Amino acid sequence: MVTTGTDRRILVTGASTGIGEKTVRRLAEQGHRVVASARRKERLDALAEAYSNVEPYRLDITSDEEVTALVDHLKATGGLDGVVNNAGGALGLDKVEDGDLDGWRWMYELNVLGTLRVTQAVLPLLRDGDGGDIVVVTSTAAHEPYEGGAGYTGVKHAERMLSTTLRREIVGEPVRIIEIAPGNVATEEFSLTRFSGDAELAKKVYEGYQPLHGEDIAEAIGWALDRPEHVNVDLMIIRPRDQAHSTKIAKKGV
Ligand code: NAP
Repeated sequence: MVTTGTDRRILVTGASTGIGEKTVRRLAEQGHRVVASARRKERLDALAEAYSNVEPYRLDITSDEEVTALVDHLKATGGLDGVVNNAGGALGLDKVEDGDLDGWRWMYELNVLGTLRVTQAVLPLLRDGDGGDIVVVTSTAAHEPYEGGAGYTGVKHAERMLSTTLRREIVGEPVRIIEIAPGNVATEEFSLTRFSGDAELAKKVYEGYQPLHGEDIAEAIGWALDRPEHVNVDLMIIRPRDQAHSTKIAKKGV
């Protein structure tokens, strides 16, 4: 039986900024005990100062050793009821013929293998207790191609396949698999990372329309996690009203 309702222990990856940080706040406000993880521990410490039910935990999801140590820590401190696989990112907007192998490798390591590593590691903990939840933050890029996006759409499609396949493989067990697929969300770092620190290019992504806020996605995650135990929210695709496709955005004045 999946134990739903408040006061569950939930791990959030990529919690130091953006959607992950907003998700930590949201889940903490809903009454859950949140393990907030990312590499920049000082940012997590600041979150833990604001919420007594948030535990900061330094974690690089591309490291086998760090993920193993996390599981030991979780086992020793009460287990786990859910994970939000949120850490991820895009690099570049190159056409396939110009795609940078190192950039594609970075995206694969972070989005696909990082999510796989964490999911494999915590699954026994979720099975151990009263069951649990696995949230995967993919993207609309997991659902449609766009020119220049193959590196990112490729890894997000792979994350989606990981999630949908796992749901089929473990159906009947008390573990829910929930995919959240956002369109453009104006977070501080996502586009800066994509454009290797070029702030002008990053700013343009969000000009001329109202993009989503990190809170919009955090709210959806919080809602999906707090559904009654017999309800599995398979997939939520959430876009700004003015975005009909990754590259079809009704921009005004730009
Ligand atoms: P973001 O602002 O760039 O934040 C990325 C987070 O991932 C940070 O907390 C970062 O923290 C963490 N991270 C990066 N590398 C890591 C690693 N090796 N190990 C652990 N944590 C790592 O991204 P966001 O906009 O919030 O996006 C969050 C998720 O939503 C991503 O999966 C992204 O692909 C997806 N998404 C974003 C958008 C959007 O428009 N923003 C749209 C659709 C989907 P540290 O650097 O401190 O580790």
